[in-house]
Amino acid sequence: MDVGPYEVLGVSKDATDAEIKRNYRRLARQYHPDRNPNDVAAEDRFKSIQTAYEKIGDSSARQEFDQKKRMEDMFQRNRGNSFGGGFGGFDIGDMFSQFRGRGQENVQNKSNNMNNLSQEVKGSDIESGLDISLEQSINGANIRFSHRRFKVCENCKGSSFGTSKGCSNCGGKGVKTKSSTITIKVPANAKHGQLLRLKKMGHEHPQGEPGDLIISLRLDAEEGRRWENGRLVQEAPVPITTLLLGGKVKILTPLGKRVQIDVPAGTRVGDRRRLQGHGHDGGQLDIEFVLSEIIEINDNQRKILEQLRKVGL
Ligand SMILES: [Zn+2]
Repeated sequence: MDVGPYEVLGVSKDATDAEIKRNYRRLARQYHPDRNPNDVAAEDRFKSIQTAYEKIGDSSARQEFDQKKRMEDMFQRNRGNSFGGGFGGFDIGDMFSQFRGRGQENVQNKSNNMNNLSQEVKGSDIESGLDISLEQSINGANIRFSHRRFKVCENCKGSSFGTSKGCSNCGGKGVKTKSSTITIKVPANAKHGQLLRLKKMGHEHPQGEPGDLIISLRLDAEEGRRWENGRLVQEAPVPITTLLLGGKVKILTPLGKRVQIDVPAGTRVGDRRRLQGHGHDGGQLDIEFVLSEIIEINDNQRKILEQLRKVGL
């Protein structure tokens, strides 16, 4: 099975760029060849982590990757398995051929009514993500945002589209890929996963209305936390003795509150607890118990551990 870069880096599709970077650093450290000499499995893992990070580690590369993925999914949905040749050489040009294909169908079907045509064809919508901080989500913000989209060719004004007439600027496509920079107004009390629709900021069409730009807001989960399908999960490191014997741990919530949680005896790594009112927006926060990392043990601890080993623990 083909494992995508999000799966390789252990992040969900709605993770912020910062969260992807943090997970990448952690995994790269863990599987680094210096730390795993002569371990072929670790080396393979390290390579796939690098490859995944090249695809989604940088925000513009990620934007392109996500866009391609959406187009591929669309092709698969629309055409089933009949779409030949695989998706290997997929690029922005293929995205255009999809949309030109639709346009030409319309030209043929509706050629007796050209007035209808301009209302029927439309540029594709563009979906993208925008990372915001907790502070920006609370107070709202104006954020500069750049994306690449088709714009109507300046030379032929789109008139070469669907005709045999050549245009040296756009090659008869009627549009060219260009970069647009806009300011996005994030409303106050914005939520993770909230969608903003920016009318006519999607792909332009040589003969019709432009599509829209649909922005999905991503709220940075910050160190030790992650999003899982819109739900915020925070790791709570617990010493092995507390897991086994039970006890309490203190955590710092996303809103900066210190909260003490009961850890029942026999708690396992990965067990969860849902806290009400402690999420980013005052909603739910899921706590996941993890084993706190032991950097070094002292002589006394070593002696006691040796005794524990003797009694079978
Ligand atoms: Zn042109």
